This record gives sequence, structure tokens and C-alpha cells, in this order.
Amino acid sequence: MMRAMVYRGPYRVRVEEKERPSIEHPNDAIVRVTRAAICGSDLHLYHGMMPDTRVGMTFGHEFTGIVEEIGASVRNLQRGDRVLVPFNICCGSCFFCVRELYSNCHNTNANASAVGGIYGYSHTAGGYDGAQGEYVRVPFADVGPSKIPEWMDEEDAVLLTDACPTGYFAAELGDIKEGDVVVVFGAGPVGLFAAKSSWLMGAGRVIVVDHLDYRLEKAQTFAQAETINFTEHDDIVMHIKKMTDFLGADLCIDAVGCESDGSFFQVLTSSKMKLQGGSPVALNWAIDSVRKAGNVSAIGGYGPLFSAVKFGDAMNKGLTIRTNQCSVKRHWPRLFEHVRNGVLKPSEIVTHRIPLEEIAEGYHIFSSKLDNCIKPLIQPQAQAA
Ligand SMILES: [Zn+2]
Ligand SMILES: [Zn+2]
Repeated sequence: MMRAMVYRGPYRVRVEEKERPSIEHPNDAIVRVTRAAICGSDLHLYHGMMPDTRVGMTFGHEFTGIVEEIGASVRNLQRGDRVLVPFNICCGSCFFCVRELYSNCHNTNANASAVGGIYGYSHTAGGYDGAQGEYVRVPFADVGPSKIPEWMDEEDAVLLTDACPTGYFAAELGDIKEGDVVVVFGAGPVGLFAAKSSWLMGAGRVIVVDHLDYRLEKAQTFAQAETINFTEHDDIVMHIKKMTDFLGADLCIDAVGCESDGSFFQVLTSSKMKLQGGSPVALNWAIDSVRKAGNVSAIGGYGPLFSAVKFGDAMNKGLTIRTNQCSVKRHWPRLFEHVRNGVLKPSEIVTHRIPLEEIAEGYHIFSSKLDNCIKPLIQPQAQAA
């Protein structure tokens, strides 16, 4: 048996004893979790917004740990290896994986029309248990995980399993040219990494838009960005136009999506702006704020249902809109280099370190945007030891 976070229904998670995972296939590994993050996208699950999130499931797709056991066919890992594991569960051999589109793996999710398998992310993403517990089963263990280099801090490593590469990928999708003006909507972890990464790709100006001052302060200190609190402006699009010689930004990044706690939307509806229910607010701001023939990259999480994207404007402006879930592993060689060289210190965004037994409180704090929470980490072994 083991201790793990368990979903009991919307806004209800708790720590319970549950069956310790075991090798189910020769290519599995069992990893003893040493760090697991709570992700903004976990809040979609927590709020009951993700279809087919089943009671009894353990969440958690951002983790590091120590290999406890390997299946008979695993070659690249050994018991005792310290590993970081991408949130994507990928087979390594399908049409998509051979093109390094690991996030679109065709073999790891029975509902594989779009996304591949993801740890702890409902049966919509394959029904795998996640890592917010003492142990987790890692399928295709030779494909996804990497050993944590000796020189790498484990808190940097855990952020390299989703938030950091996803932000980096968002900037990369935007095809940044030297001197470009980049506007990032959303100052959560992914938005912060998107802003930081934009500089690494040659941006000349980086502007981050959010409604929470503590997150905007982080965007200034961590990502050296200019910031805009959109609640202070009647018309955020016009404000951005004014800041960019009325051309608009070269690249707009939507790092919000249909925001997991709905606060972007709630803040807006409680202000004077008129919006349709379910509007992808940040995406439409991105479409409106980018210059003609500019780039929009959308990596915020969207549930299956949302409406009213301004697609006509996007077409008439000649925009290039690019999206996908990040294929984490593809970005590791470059990101490992950046971390090693000290240009990127992903763990700088960590604000909370929470024992597993207190994870329910962690979800509550993160969900309610209390205590200036930006990125909470769970240490499952803290009390197991
Ligand atoms: Zn995540
Ligand atoms: Zn695959």
C-alpha cells in the first residue's frame, strides 16, 4: 500500500491509502516520487471541469523520483536512478512519436484522436494514475524519462517536466525574430516561462498581461518583463496597440486558455466588459492585439467546449496561429543547456513546498490564489521517510 492524493469529487481531494502500483507490462518502471508539482491544469480536474475524471484517481503529471523497480524489457533505466519524467506518456514508435510529436502519441491513450497519454489527467487522457503520491507507474520507461544530471537541482528538474518546456515551446511556436515585441497573456508558471524564453529567442520587448499583482511582480523579477494589470485598463487591446505604435505585437502568446479557475473570466465579467459565456478571452485578446500577419501561439489549456473564437479577424489579418501540447522531451537538450549555463533557473518560480498529507490545503491555496501562490511542490517522501 502507499499514501496518495485521491480525487473524491469537485473541490474534494484527500490523502488515502491505496494500492501501490506494480509492473503491468515489461516496459514499465515503478518510480518512488521525490517531488511532484501541482499544475494549473490540475485545477481543471479539481474543479470537475475535465470530462471523465473518475473518483479514486490520483492526479499529478509533473514529477521526479527514484526508480524502484523495472520491467523485464527496460534497458535505459536501473533501480536507484534519479529521473525526471515528462508529463507526456509516449510509446516512442508511432507515427507521431517518430516525428518527436510525443504529446500526440497514438498508442498511449485509447481516446487518441487528439492528445496522447498524460499522467493523472482523467480517462480523457488515458486513465493513468498520477504522481501526487508515494509511487507511480511509468509506462514505456525507456522512452520518456531521463536521468537527472548530477549537476541539476531536483526542483529545477521537476519544473522541466511541464511548465518550463511548455512556456519555452510557446515562444518557439511564435517564430520570434530579433527585436520582436512579444505579449504574453497569463502570468502563471507557463506564461512566466514563455516570457523568459522569448528573450532567449531574441525578443526585443516582452510584455506580460495578468490581473494578479503578485504574479506580475514575478514576471518583472523572474522574466524581466514589462507588465500590464488588465483590470486597470478599460480596453486592453487598445492599450497594447498604443504601446506598439498602433501596429500590434509581433507575437501574442495565450498562456491562459479557458483558465482553470475561471478567474480571468470572472474578473472580466465583474468589470464592465461585455463577454459571451465561454469566450476564450485571452485568445481573442491575442488575435486582436497582434499585428497583421503576426503570430499567435496558444498553449493554454482548453476543455473540449469553448466558443466564439474571433476566427474571421484572424483570417483577415493573415495570422499564423500555432498550438499543441508541448512534447516535453524534444526540448530537453536545449533546456538542460540553458539550466546548466545558468541563464534559466526554473525553480525560481516555486513558492510553496507542501507535505503530501497537506495536499488538500495545497489545492485550496493554489485554486483560490491565496498566499501569493505561483507554483506549489509536493514532497511525498517527506513523511514516508
Ligand atoms: Zn502541468
Ligand atoms: Zn507514440
